[in-house]
Amino acid sequence: RPTVAFENVVFGYERDRTILNGLSFEVPAGDNIAIVGPSGAGKSTIARLLFRFYDPWSGRILIDGQDIATVKQASVREAIGIVPQDSVLFNDTIGYNIAYGKDGAGEDAVRSAARDAAIMPFIEALPQGFETEVGERGLKLSGGEKQRVAIARTLVKDPPILMLDEATSALDSRTEQDILATLDRISRHRTTLSIAHRLSTVASAHEILVLDQGKLAERGTHTDLLKMD
Ligand code: ADP
Ligand code: ADP
Repeated sequence: RPTVAFENVVFGYERDRTILNGLSFEVPAGDNIAIVGPSGAGKSTIARLLFRFYDPWSGRILIDGQDIATVKQASVREAIGIVPQDSVLFNDTIGYNIAYGKDGAGEDAVRSAARDAAIMPFIEALPQGFETEVGERGLKLSGGEKQRVAIARTLVKDPPILMLDEATSALDSRTEQDILATLDRISRHRTTLSIAHRLSTVASAHEILVLDQGKLAERGTHTDLLKMD
């Protein structure tokens, strides 16, 4: 369970436009921290930098004290499971889609995924079993079911760091709360960074960082921030 830290990170996509303006925060090992803020604040940019799609202009991003710019991109990515808002599934079975996160989704991977206790609560909520074909020629999954498959696919790799990038934002609030409750139950003690634009999404986070124009505007517990409103 690693610690994740941003230290004075400055970054932009274009030379004359800074998106993150000296951002610093730390996610202690095994903790669950959320980042909220208006659209365009730079939340997804944080996820992209942590996944090493880009490197900061200045400042450092550390996993367990090690600057990720000095580590192979592949090993950084191995440590992180990202669940995006609109996950794309393969036109294949539910089992294949989930086991894909593991060892290329061979039969053994599918069998072992099917026995993986960490993903059971997500599988149980699906309308049909592992062998069911989904996608164009198969079963059409709802947004919530799709995200459940995507979360299971990420968890099956047992990543020490879990990053939810608006993973449930597009869902109705009941489905969202349902998935979040399950996640909270099974991802305790995993270092978790949840990116969201609504405070309701991050009730289980120990600390919430409010990002505005690439800087931290506020930070506190869920209760602290509700008081500030
Ligand atoms: P490379 O072409 O090898 O990526 P660059 O010299 O273009 O190297 O720099 C890498 C990136 O960092 C570029 O996108 C550049 O615009 C950006 N960059 C670095 N420092 C700054 C800065 N202080 N202001 C604006 N952009 C910067
Ligand atoms: P958030 O996730 O908080 O909505 P993002 O991190 O996605 O915000 O984006 C922050 C800013 O960076 C936005 O103004 C967005 O337009 C800009 N941006 C995002 N991706 C790119 C890109 N690939 N090229 C140029 N600008 C980008």
